[in-house]
This record gives sequence, C-alpha cells and structure tokens, in this order.
Amino acid sequence: MSLTVAVCGALGRMGREVVKTIAAAPDLELTGAVDRGVDQPVDAGVAAGVGELGITVVSTLESLAANPPEILVDFTQPDSVMANAIRGLDMGSHLVIGTTGLSQGDLKQLDEAARATGRGVIVAPNFALGAVLMMNFAALAAKYFPDVEIIELHHEQKKDAPSGTAIKTAEMIRAAREANGFIDACWESLPGARGGDFDGIRIHSVRLPGFVAHQEVIFGLTGQTLTIRHDSTSRESFMPGVLLAIREVSKIEGLIYGLEHLLQL
Ligand code: NAD
Repeated sequence: MSLTVAVCGALGRMGREVVKTIAAAPDLELTGAVDRGVDQPVDAGVAAGVGELGITVVSTLESLAANPPEILVDFTQPDSVMANAIRGLDMGSHLVIGTTGLSQGDLKQLDEAARATGRGVIVAPNFALGAVLMMNFAALAAKYFPDVEIIELHHEQKKDAPSGTAIKTAEMIRAAREANGFIDACWESLPGARGGDFDGIRIHSVRLPGFVAHQEVIFGLTGQTLTIRHDSTSRESFMPGVLLAIREVSKIEGLIYGLEHLLQL
C-alpha cells in the first residue's frame, strides 16, 4: 500500500522538486497538487519535468477535500503556510512543512491543532542533512565559543529574511552556550550594517542570484576563529530529508520541529 501525498506549492522551485521525488518513490503516490499561481490546467508531472502523472494542479486546497491525502507537503510562502496547515489538518492529513517564516506562536498553534486532530506535523527549516549537521556542530562549538555571528546566503527570490535555518541555528546556539557573547558597542553609521540581533547573535542575510541556500557560522575566541559552513548547491539536497519526513510523519502525534529529531545524531 502506497502512502498518498499531495504537494502544496507544486509549481514552485521546491514544489516541483518534491513532485519529481514523489513520482520516483515506489512507496509513495502523488494524489494531489495545489498551487495558487496556476493560471491554466497543467499536469504536476509535466510542470516538474518528469512527464504526465495524471494529476492536474488545482488552485486551492479545498479542491482536495473530497479525496484528502494521507500526507500534505507544504513548500509555499510565509503568508500562506499557516492557513494551508490548518486546512490540511481539518482534512485529516498529516503535514510535512518546509516553508520558512513560522513564528514560535505559529509552531505552538500547529502543535495544539495537530494534537487536537490526532495528526503528526513535521516542520523543518532545512531538510538537507549537511545543514542539520552544521547546526548541531554549531551548538557543540557554542559551548566553548560564546562569541558568534551567522551569515546566511540565498537566491534573490527568497521572500523572508533571515532564513529559517539561521533562526534555528541561533536558537540552538542560545540553548547550548554557557556564557553570553561580548557586549557589542559598535556604532552603525549605516543602519543594519551589523545585521539582525537575535539575543546578541548577529545574523547577516545575503540575497543574490547564483546562490541556492548557504550558511556560515563564525565563532571567535582570542587568537582563533572557527568557521562552520554548509552549501546546498541544488534543491536535490533537500529531498532525502523530505522523503524521511513523509515516511515518518504518520507515526507521530503533534509537532516535531527540526529534521535532527528524526536522525540518530
Ligand atoms: P517559490 O516561490 O518558488 O514557490 C512557492 C510556490 O507556492 C509558488 O508557486 C506559489 O504560487 C505557491 N503558493 C503560495 N501560496 C500558496 C497557497 N496559499 N496555496 C498554494 N500555493 C501557494 O518558493 P520556493 O523556493 O519553492 O520556496 C518555498 C518555501 O520553502 C520558502 O518558504 C522557502 O524559504 C522554503 N524552503 C525550505 C527549504 C527547507 O529545507 N525547509 C529549502 C528551500 C526552501
């Protein structure tokens, strides 16, 4: 028996990669594809470049209500994801969410809604294994190096800043470090020059054509620096993590935030 999966944001950069990945997975069946940007009937497989799959992309999630998928995967936009998620849970689907920009309050609401419906939700700001390891290595280093800054670099069409990965990294560093960083007395002659301030951890967001998803975490200590860097050079890097989440999400109830909780690290 295949797991039935629908993709929300199926015409986007990540959505098309997810459609391609599901089409190639023998244990998964694509039963729905949604994208609010669809302007003429298009097959999800054709849009993803893998040929006809017999699934026409529809413009609203409501169109899937008659035949809800077991698992709904969302790679849309920060301003869409919560409404999609609540609709998905109401339809009875488990959720795998890659869309970034969710607040702590959103995550709490998702956990409560998932528990109320007896469904699982996996939210991962980064599905790439290397990025998960980078975050964990950063948390390990933070114990010994309290002074740290994060530089994240993404393509020019990314809609939110800083990235979900940068925020998650900062959260993990904050939880792991045993002392605060130095008091930053630097005066900015150009506002924003020192980046965003996440509890004393500076985050700098670069947006340029040519990048996919990249992050450097730079630690400084007297006489030495330590740089941990991860580069996703193609969106394929996210797919093993997305597949893992799809296969695991129906086994849980409530929210899991971060792919690291599904890995033996
Ligand atoms: P994109 O702009 O290429 O695609 C988003 C798609 O979602 C668009 O086609 C848009 O029409 C559609 N959409 C928006 N609102 C919708 C709604 N309410 N219903 C249906 N469709 C809707 O963006 P992208 O590069 O594919 O990224 C999508 C999201 O995934 C972003 O938030 C990005 O930061 C995130 N992302 C996460 C990871 C990860 O590993 N978690 C990796 C890369 C990107």
